[in-house]
Amino acid sequence: MAPDSEFANASFGKPDFDVVVVGSGFAGLYLLHKLRELGFSAKALEAAGDVGGTWYWNRYPGARCDIMSIDYSYSFDPDLETEWQWSEKYATQPEILRYLQHVAAKHDLRRDIAFETRVESATWDKDSSRWLIRTNRGAEITCRYYVMAAGCLSKPKEPEIEGCDCFRGEVYYTSRWPHRGVDFTAKRVAVIGTGSSGIQSIPLIAAQAKQLTVFQRTPNFSIPAHNGPIPTHRLADYERDRASYRERGRWSRFGVPVELSQIGAMQVSEDERRARYEAVWEAGELVGIGLAFNDIILNPKSNETLCEFIRGKIRTIVTNPETAEALCPTDHYVATKRACLDTNYYETYNLGHVRLVDLRKTPLARITETGIDTTIETFEFDAIVYATGFDAMTGPIVAVNITGRNGVTLRDRWAAGPLTYLGLMTTGFPNFFAVTGPGSPSVLSNMTVSIEQHVDWICNCLKDLRDENLEVIEPTATAEAGWVQHVNDCANITLFPTANSWYMGANVPGKPRVFLPYIGGTDAYRTACNEVVARGYLGFVRSGSGQRRVNDGVIRRLQPDVQMLLEAMSALNLPPLEEMSPEAARAFSSELSAVRPPGPEVGEIVDGVLPGAGGDLDYRLYRPATAGPHRVVVYFHGGGWVLGSHDSDDPFCRDLCVRSNAVFVSVNYRHAPEHCFPAAADDAFAAVRWIGDHLETLGGVPGPLVVCGWSAGGNLAAVVCQMARAAGGPNICGQVLVAPVTDCDFSRPSYTENGVDYVLTKPLMNWFWDHYADPANRTDPKASPLRANDLSGLPRALVVTAEFDPLRDEGAAYAEAMASAGVEVKHLPCRGQIHTSLTAVDMILSGAGARAEISAAIRQFFHQVEDLVMRDN
Ligand SMILES: Cc1cc2nc3c(=O)[nH]c(=O)nc-3n(C[C@H](O)[C@H](O)[C@H](O)COP(=O)(O)OP(=O)(O)OC[C@H]3O[C@@H](n4cnc5c(N)ncnc54)[C@H](O)[C@@H]3O)c2cc1C
Repeated sequence: MAPDSEFANASFGKPDFDVVVVGSGFAGLYLLHKLRELGFSAKALEAAGDVGGTWYWNRYPGARCDIMSIDYSYSFDPDLETEWQWSEKYATQPEILRYLQHVAAKHDLRRDIAFETRVESATWDKDSSRWLIRTNRGAEITCRYYVMAAGCLSKPKEPEIEGCDCFRGEVYYTSRWPHRGVDFTAKRVAVIGTGSSGIQSIPLIAAQAKQLTVFQRTPNFSIPAHNGPIPTHRLADYERDRASYRERGRWSRFGVPVELSQIGAMQVSEDERRARYEAVWEAGELVGIGLAFNDIILNPKSNETLCEFIRGKIRTIVTNPETAEALCPTDHYVATKRACLDTNYYETYNLGHVRLVDLRKTPLARITETGIDTTIETFEFDAIVYATGFDAMTGPIVAVNITGRNGVTLRDRWAAGPLTYLGLMTTGFPNFFAVTGPGSPSVLSNMTVSIEQHVDWICNCLKDLRDENLEVIEPTATAEAGWVQHVNDCANITLFPTANSWYMGANVPGKPRVFLPYIGGTDAYRTACNEVVARGYLGFVRSGSGQRRVNDGVIRRLQPDVQMLLEAMSALNLPPLEEMSPEAARAFSSELSAVRPPGPEVGEIVDGVLPGAGGDLDYRLYRPATAGPHRVVVYFHGGGWVLGSHDSDDPFCRDLCVRSNAVFVSVNYRHAPEHCFPAAADDAFAAVRWIGDHLETLGGVPGPLVVCGWSAGGNLAAVVCQMARAAGGPNICGQVLVAPVTDCDFSRPSYTENGVDYVLTKPLMNWFWDHYADPANRTDPKASPLRANDLSGLPRALVVTAEFDPLRDEGAAYAEAMASAGVEVKHLPCRGQIHTSLTAVDMILSGAGARAEISAAIRQFFHQVEDLVMRDN
């Protein structure tokens, strides 16, 4: 233990240390090592009596890692991998603690750690650009950089049960287990809590106790660990080339080098699904859940198949049907709360002396001097074990009174949820870093991989500052807000936010409901962190020695699934459409259509023919499954007037048909260059007229129509509305223009900003226009509806634009121009989307919100008409 006088030179001159680190678990130990290696002076302050962090405190029976030992270990020291052999697939707490003690001894780390020293406050002094740290031992320490390696699961959540203090028997907390161990022989024991620690400890406590009663509020999904020797195929893979194995882990989704599935659960037969789930059950690996199918955490239906499989296993293992049912989770999707790995957990409930009390049926009333009362029963115990979890991720950080610039405390700044840039830093708190903090993959990954990545990033950042004669670093507000948005965008396309989990802060009363970790993947996260550095510390202000370098910006602006799609397309190296002939481009686009998800089922699909301006046109009608008749929407597909068909836009039409509960008639119009301007426009108008005249024959409600189109189809929908206005009919009560072409002018900023990287490029738009219309015709409002002299009197409109679309600004301009002309217009700008992503049903989940809004607008257009009719009557 360090004497407090060691920090005597606090508050004047040079700071005591370049860096103060809080914690000496996996993160603190590696930080000390790395900082030393780079020549920084560093001190770690640790509340515990020795190194180990999680593995120092959590000594309860059955405590083990749930990521395979060969993966859950350091990679920074290759010698460690040969000198340390893990004895089991999932090492026990004593073995992991011995490993960390070995690392501390090997690298002589203890000499820079003050044990039994809890950091109570940290205050930024802007005049000296230093942090002043105060500890529970009265010490004051100054440092240039303050790094919290305080752990994500190091602040136990105290049980909030009435009477907790009055029990006179033995009381234990899994997260603060006595070092001497506990013998439950001949004792009546209660365990409160069935999260990971409860599930690991219950079978072993049951093996000793005379009687065990488990109090369960919510059951969790658990799969058997099948612990034993490390599986031979994994060990062989590891031994073959350790460096490359580790590198694959670093660039994997969860920090473990396994191939994830490329197929969705609903895309295979029930037999195959079951076979894959049996394999997951047998493999006993948490990441195995992601190996089964690629949409388990995305698609509720897919997830439910796995939930039901696990429930089936529970019902088979647990002999008492009532107990089995109580153990079956029904309030959350599997993996949206941390799933557990167990050894004989469910089997334990078949033992005569073990009983489960379902607190959802009989809530816990109070702890008494001799035991526990539920609302209907009184229990007597010799010992109570609390396995009540942690105030995760933010808890250990805000437990320290951290004060940044202008006297603002972190606790206040994070009152509505944590705000971080990359999970590493927070605005207003210069030179303050968190390891595996909120907004980083952290608890959703193999933590050792994430810890090493964070430590490397932080240390290299400090080195870069030193090399560039800078001292202070802080994220900009824009960068931070952009990252927080990205973290939320990633979470929002998954099922995670639906669960009352500690990932959401839901286990701690009063804690804001925010998804805390980053679910975009350790690989994507590492890429973002590296990119920030490669782009000159994008999103940071760095200063010192009279310099101030501001590099403001947002690192991830695309929606996460759009980004993934673009990366996948770039890997395929697809040929540019504009270098093909129209026939080849059409064939290519049909090939792409054939391999995408089909979209939802509708009630009925009917193909037919209607008279166009120059001959018959094919159409496809989509009817909702609900009782008709329905209102009718006429739809025009995209494809630059050259490509596409009702096949290409089929999933989009299905989706809108179901969501808006309207009949969709998707009309194939004549394509250029065989049929140039104004063939497509004339066909579109002819089709709307014919459909308007045949609504009842088509099974629709007589009355006005809505027209809708995407891209070039959006152009045709807009043009049709102008033509109908000029012709005095048909009656159109609404127009939905999704990323429409409205003008032939390429000079708007969106063409410059988005003309290259986002599928619809400027060269491709050129190619489309060249095929469709002679330059002399392009300014005709039938080609460029924005050029019309008068836009008044047009139907109500919804104009949808995508942020990363060359057509963004002309869509916005058309919405604005119509609004100026007195048309009721709503403009829906879609953040982070590209031209093609809004229509990519079941591929781009982040587009679902926009499709819901489109459908709501369609329903609204029709309702307004119905309201008018009712008023008139
Ligand atoms: C039971 C259990 C099992 C787990 N199993 C796995 C697993 O299999 N795989 C996995 O990836 N992750 C697992 N985790 C997560 C685990 O926390 C991390 O893997 C890892 O151990 C975290 O290391 P760390 O150094 O960041 O934090 P910790 O190990 O939590 O260490 C933080 C240290 O900081 C100290 N500290 C905190 N606040 C202060 C303060 N104010 N002043 C002084 N000291 C302070 C604490 O005393 C603690 O020793 C598990 C967690 C638990 C609780």
